[in-house]
Amino acid sequence: MTRDQLVKTDNRHVWHPFTQHADPEASEHLVIAGGEGCELIDVDGRRYLDGVSSLWVSVFGHRHPVVDAAVRKQLDALAHSTMLGLTHPIAIELAERLAAITPEGLNRVFYSDSGSTAVEVALKMAFQWHQQQGDTRRNRFVALRDAYHGDTIGSVSVGGIDLFHAVYRPLLFDAVHVEAPLHREDEAALVQRALDTLEEVGDQVAAIVVEPLVQGAAGMRMHSPDFLRPIVQRARDLGALVVFDEVAVGFGRTGTLFAAEQVGFAPDFLCLAKGLTNGYLPLAVTMATDRVFEGFLGPAEHTFFHGHTYTGNPLACAAALATLDLFRDTDVMARLAGNAAVLRDACASLVARHPGRVREVRQTGTMVGIDLVARPDEPRLGREVVLACRERGVILRNLGDVVVLMPPLVMPHDQLRALVAAVDTVLASPRFTPT
Ligand SMILES: *Cc1c(COP(=O)(O)O)cnc(C)c1O
Repeated sequence: MTRDQLVKTDNRHVWHPFTQHADPEASEHLVIAGGEGCELIDVDGRRYLDGVSSLWVSVFGHRHPVVDAAVRKQLDALAHSTMLGLTHPIAIELAERLAAITPEGLNRVFYSDSGSTAVEVALKMAFQWHQQQGDTRRNRFVALRDAYHGDTIGSVSVGGIDLFHAVYRPLLFDAVHVEAPLHREDEAALVQRALDTLEEVGDQVAAIVVEPLVQGAAGMRMHSPDFLRPIVQRARDLGALVVFDEVAVGFGRTGTLFAAEQVGFAPDFLCLAKGLTNGYLPLAVTMATDRVFEGFLGPAEHTFFHGHTYTGNPLACAAALATLDLFRDTDVMARLAGNAAVLRDACASLVARHPGRVREVRQTGTMVGIDLVARPDEPRLGREVVLACRERGVILRNLGDVVVLMPPLVMPHDQLRALVAAVDTVLASPRFTPT
């Protein structure tokens, strides 16, 4: 099919996620046919910098030879076999490796296939664990306001983004939301408020669920370890389990392999997905402590009755193991601070250069949110800026009026600077100059 035929057929048959198909722009698709390193290539051969790692997954870039080879090799052995009643070498090895690199105590790996299911599994496990401990009053969850934990009904219940979640309210269970900072300056007062809320509901809480350090989909809201640590510690002291959703922040995004390392806190559950397979195949894990696992040993009704058909898919596990090899065998982690500094330098003058247009730039590790100020007649400013960047060969994505940069961990410095330069140039154009 030609590009025009592809776009026409897409408009006729494909229902895109998070897309209002009534918007004319929704039908102007860029058709991506290839990828190479930190670039995406459209059907006409035009190259674009992938400034958001293909929605936060592609930590080592596209068509990485090591990951490619691992998936090809696994194809010659086994593409799928169930984990219900059977097991296979690659899932075993991956579980062992994950237990070794994640925070202390997280020794059990439950496989599923998306960040949403990873969180869903943690919620169900936490609830059931307390039930089986005889603590049947613990049926509530605490989460941060503006949280995003996925799109299944349970993960939406602990989510707090009204635009996405309000319509489903009647279907959701009630979660207690505590206010989280937009940036680090707002923290001290909010810690105390969160602790007060925990005192009120603490003995009914099954688990507290948080995205540590950066609330990604909320628009890159950021807090420090000092905000989170007392809250999760207090929740634990009150008997709640602690779930870290590191689907977005895991795998180096915040500067350490996992954000939990900076928080200095080992949770009872760790949810991982996005970066796990370098974006090659859908795979997620819910990691749990032995203490949680042991709470499920006993009579038949204490079984965790949950599982997905593609649980532990061998091809996906092979991609994940190769990705972990790259974290172990390359200097990617050592170079993250340098990459973060390049982004910080490049963004440093944005507020001054675009007064009244750039409110602030928030950054943790290599996760960046450029927060724009929209006039009332600019309801889709963020989206339009992102589309204008695309014309300049840079693919970014906005969350409302926040332009997100989440480049592959391996993006070279000149390409990192080019991402910011594209935003800078677009904002300097007459169309986006505030009047
Ligand atoms: C993306 C995301 C999810 C959901 O992951 P999916 O694979 O899209 O279901 C959950 N939590 C966080 C923090 C995320 O960023």
